[in-house]
Amino acid sequence: MSDSCHEAALTAASVLRKYAAEVDDQARFPVESFAALREAGLLGLVVPTGYGGAGAGLDVYVDVAQVLAGGCLSTALAWAMHCQQTDAIARFGGPELRERVLPRVARGELYIASVTTERGKGGHLLSADAPLDARGGRLRIERDAPVVTGASVAEGFLITMKEGAGLPANAVSLVYADRDALSVAETGEWDTLGMRGTQSLGVRLSGEVPADQVVGGPGGFRDVAVESMIPMAHLGWSACWLGAARAALGELVTGLRGPGRRGPDTASELVRERLARIRVDLELTSGYLHRVEQEVSAARAAGRSLGETVVQIHLNTLKVAASELTFRAADRMMQFAGLAAGYSKTSPLPVERTFRDLRAASLNYANDRLLTATGSLMLLDRSVVLG
Ligand SMILES: Cc1cc2nc3c(=O)[nH]c(=O)nc-3n(C[C@H](O)[C@H](O)[C@H](O)COP(=O)(O)OP(=O)(O)OC[C@H]3O[C@@H](n4cnc5c(N)ncnc54)[C@H](O)[C@@H]3O)c2cc1C
Repeated sequence: MSDSCHEAALTAASVLRKYAAEVDDQARFPVESFAALREAGLLGLVVPTGYGGAGAGLDVYVDVAQVLAGGCLSTALAWAMHCQQTDAIARFGGPELRERVLPRVARGELYIASVTTERGKGGHLLSADAPLDARGGRLRIERDAPVVTGASVAEGFLITMKEGAGLPANAVSLVYADRDALSVAETGEWDTLGMRGTQSLGVRLSGEVPADQVVGGPGGFRDVAVESMIPMAHLGWSACWLGAARAALGELVTGLRGPGRRGPDTASELVRERLARIRVDLELTSGYLHRVEQEVSAARAAGRSLGETVVQIHLNTLKVAASELTFRAADRMMQFAGLAAGYSKTSPLPVERTFRDLRAASLNYANDRLLTATGSLMLLDRSVVLG
């Protein structure tokens, strides 16, 4: 199964690669690439087999994320966030919601976007401002969402909302809404330095859903975040960033060795040392990614919570380290390749786009937030069990 998913990802990645420069240039959503993911069954990668999905584990998830990101990081990141949403519904959705949603995801008909960021509270994941309004078994949603990857095309949204008016900001519910149940009004554009193909527009969502579409129960978002969304996000994003940096390095080295080779003199020791430094960054990211993936997989297999302090520290460290190391690798690739092959937009190597894209990694859920959270957790952890 893992081999067939890997093969499917390789096939899809060739489509992603074809459109990567165009979606970056036009800052538009990669619809063609997403069509390839739908066609390949990859939207249903983590959907349990009982609902028609591939039922893949986290090892396959991080492998596929790396392969896809080697084609187009924007597409891969949007896909990884969709898998995050799917995992949350599969683990915490009620039976009716799972039955309504998961078979459609498995068939490639339903791409689910993520709505957690909110104007005012900013990126903070575990709080919400806008309240749900419950009336007669229905929930009214009025939500300002300043950054939503794939907002223009997603067929569904998973949205954090305050459980009800008058409750504290940490009483957060996670609600699923079909696009058809909402009016989606564009409120902000997406014209950024990098990750342009995610087309993460600002939108205002208004509508109503049945009360059984709260994932994890009313006010139950914290558990969903700890057991599903955070691990899926940090593993998936890190794998995506690594896959993009690795693909760029592969092309860089191929360019040095191939016929009509270009770039710096490979006989130079300085050149070799610079190459090795790039490799060190990616080796460390890869090693830690796999270590944390195995830790999370083992905990899940044993039915242990991922809320343990040490596991949370490792998951936060992974996101921070992967975002910094892969960006540093991209920066080093830029320096290595030089002006024409690296810095130029028209270079046949993807170094310039990868550099711009990876600059977003530390902002995509601000590293500052994770570092302060990790520092607080460390005060509770005298064991200092390292990953
Ligand atoms: C490519 C991309 C795609 C995204 N897609 C989505 C999406 O689909 N859905 C969604 O909801 N969001 C999405 N986001 C938003 C993202 O997850 C973050 O929430 C958002 O980028 C945070 O924005 P911010 O840095 O302005 O705000 P904040 O996280 O609120 O931070 C504001 C500033 O305060 C600093 N700061 C925050 N906390 C601390 C602290 N404790 N100590 C010190 N400094 C601190 C930050 O470093 C930053 O400088 C996406 C972002 C990117 C880059």
